[in-house]
Amino acid sequence: MIILLVSVFGGSAAASPFVQWLFEAVAVIALPLLYVGFAPPRWLRRLWRQAEEDQLREAVHDLVLFSPDRPTLAKRAADWGLRLVGADGIGIVDANGDILALHGLSAESARQLAAHAAGGGRPRLLATSGSARENAIVLPLPLDAGMGAMVVVSGPYTPFFGTDEVSRLRGYAANITAALDRARVTERLAALEKTKSQFLNLASHELRSPLGVINGYLSMLEQGVFGQLKESGMRALEVLKAKTVEMNLLVAQMLDAARLEDGRLALKRDRLDLREVAREAMQVVRPLAGADHDLSLDAPAQAVTVFGDVGRILTIITNLLENAIKYSPQGGRVQCIVAAADHTASVTVIDGGIGIAREDLPRLFNRFERLQNVKASHVGGTGLGLYLSRELARQHSGDIQVESRPGAGSRFTLTLPLAAPIEEPEAPMVAEPEMLAPRLHVLTPDAESESQPA
Ligand code: ADP
Repeated sequence: MIILLVSVFGGSAAASPFVQWLFEAVAVIALPLLYVGFAPPRWLRRLWRQAEEDQLREAVHDLVLFSPDRPTLAKRAADWGLRLVGADGIGIVDANGDILALHGLSAESARQLAAHAAGGGRPRLLATSGSARENAIVLPLPLDAGMGAMVVVSGPYTPFFGTDEVSRLRGYAANITAALDRARVTERLAALEKTKSQFLNLASHELRSPLGVINGYLSMLEQGVFGQLKESGMRALEVLKAKTVEMNLLVAQMLDAARLEDGRLALKRDRLDLREVAREAMQVVRPLAGADHDLSLDAPAQAVTVFGDVGRILTIITNLLENAIKYSPQGGRVQCIVAAADHTASVTVIDGGIGIAREDLPRLFNRFERLQNVKASHVGGTGLGLYLSRELARQHSGDIQVESRPGAGSRFTLTLPLAAPIEEPEAPMVAEPEMLAPRLHVLTPDAESESQPA
């Protein structure tokens, strides 16, 4: 352009020796620049791409960690593959021949090119039909499920591929292989979790109605509707009742866990007295206690008021008490202490049972987690109780803390925000004289009636 302008308009100026010298100097400088422009050396190509490669590294990191599923991952990977080598078309083909991502290429051509990956683990430079030069790279993806491939094709206006492009794509392909395998594992785990939730839902619903019938007949038997039972019959009835309580608790746990998972758990927000809930929980678990267990409830004279769903708080305390009984198979004292301090209400359940090793504490609240302990190998359970209890506590803006030592017993504390006292004086509780007593010590498994304050 400059030469043209000068030749047209330069006229006599071009005759000057200085201008001639200037032209020669420009020609000497321009020639290597033109050469570098069309065929830049590797170090320069790398320098130009530095910013792009930094972005790519970040993108690969996100790709591997945050892609929700394999098709999304493959699509993102394909977009970056195109940018990485300035290609026109790209395809990512799964081990079974399924196309995971496709851009600027027909599915048929992608599959045909991918077939070249079957032979071995090395990338290949190929010429597609109708092309005189090598315009395609086939990168094998050695996936866990078999050999997949990433195929990259250059267009008529994009640069041809060389060893530099091949080596860059090779590293990229290794990342994609790992990410696709990881995503498959994540997908399988998600499917497994879904199946577990579906099973929980189904099993708990199916068990609920026969259990209802059993509960009904048991209370009729107890009330003597079918005639008075003999002493041996009464003993059998007690065993049946205890086993039914276990099943009722289990089904309630399964139902609530299933509801929690699919977001169907709606909590009520009633004003309630934790002392009453703890008292009811003690009654629920009483049939589970052995003759060697001594169950006691300590509660202050004043109401411990919280806002919450009475059924769910009952579930939490019942779970903690049930565990305290189950995991102290040799019997002993099981204490339930209701308290209020510093805007916090608490229910603490203490047992002197098998205890929990320090390294097991972090796993305690995981769903379906059951700890290994030879002393409790015969104790049944699902590993749902503590998971559910803590989730329920947290939905009430509360929590559950645990302190435990192997062989020395455990102490689980449910904390909930204390409700602010209402202005008008609360109606006195008349139904339960024990609740008004300064301290309560109630419910031993053998006791026919609750003992009076200590
Ligand atoms: P499970 O149905 O197995 O009792 P949980 O979720 O209630 O399920 O408890 C999880 C595990 O925590 C139990 O399997 C048991 O190993 C341990 N655990 C819970 N409570 C106690 C306790 N009071 N003492 C000792 N171990 C306990």
